[in-house]
Amino acid sequence: MSQQENKKPGWGGRLSDPGALRELLGRHGFHFSKSLGQNFLINPSVCPRMAEACGAQECAGVLEVGPGVGVLTWELSQVAKKVCAVELDTRLFPVLEETLAGCDNVKVIRGDVMKLDLSRLVQEEFGGGPICVCANLPYYITSPVLLRLLEEELPLRAITVMVQKEAAARLCAAPGTRECGAVSVAVHYRSVPRVLFPVSRGSFLPPPKVDSAVIRLDLREEPPVEVADEAWFFRVARGAFAQRRKTAANSLSSALGIPKPQVEAALAAVGAAGARAERLTLEQLAALSNRLLEAVASP
Ligand code: SAM
Repeated sequence: MSQQENKKPGWGGRLSDPGALRELLGRHGFHFSKSLGQNFLINPSVCPRMAEACGAQECAGVLEVGPGVGVLTWELSQVAKKVCAVELDTRLFPVLEETLAGCDNVKVIRGDVMKLDLSRLVQEEFGGGPICVCANLPYYITSPVLLRLLEEELPLRAITVMVQKEAAARLCAAPGTRECGAVSVAVHYRSVPRVLFPVSRGSFLPPPKVDSAVIRLDLREEPPVEVADEAWFFRVARGAFAQRRKTAANSLSSALGIPKPQVEAALAAVGAAGARAERLTLEQLAALSNRLLEAVASP
């Protein structure tokens, strides 16, 4: 350990040492849970890069999802005013108490990120923000977590997350291109996304079966298209992609319970007759959701 690290509280860089990590986890009788997506980072260069890239300095603080043993949390605590880390697995709490001992700007919150009242958390912990999110996401809830963060009106500046490599490509794919899905629509509506860097599967303990990538979403101040009702727009986007192999008309009609001829007419009016969802641009999806809103309001 360098002299500089020696002066800092908590475990810091030592958490990237597989031997030290195994010793720590063994001492706490901890076993990895596959169902909670527990693959802990052991590549020493990844967390400093994420902490550096997430924009912590420009925010009231950082929200982390799933601190695990605190390897990223610790790096974030070095650059952020405050870090709140939400962890579901209570077995990790005594471990975090040890690894983050003395990191006074870190608060670990027990809970499920899908159930917590995030607006309240931002208000209570960060004085209303703005905040940024930085996390190595549990992969089984990548899309639901991102959708929550993007669809709720939270004071977010940026979201920097590690996701599966394929998910990174999908999330950053522009609407109207083959790889895009309902989450990419929300991503592009709310933010400007980019892939920052790849991360190999060997960077984790235990190693997952797939490679990963870190992406950053910079939240927009204004959406790029005009939408009459955002909640409805997101429903339309989800409905259009609900059955990817079908046409958008079929998928939307069954997802939203609107008669197919009405959906077909709305699609034709936005220049997308007979199209599948992945062919619809953001502008077309916005216009379509506005037309369908009129259709349901005056059937
Ligand atoms: N940040 C650590 C790292 O990079 O090594 C751990 C990342 S690990 C991929 C995901 C973490 O999310 C685990 O600690 C897991 O227990 C936690 N987790 C899983 N589901 C969660 C949920 N619904 N809410 C909050 N945390 C969750």
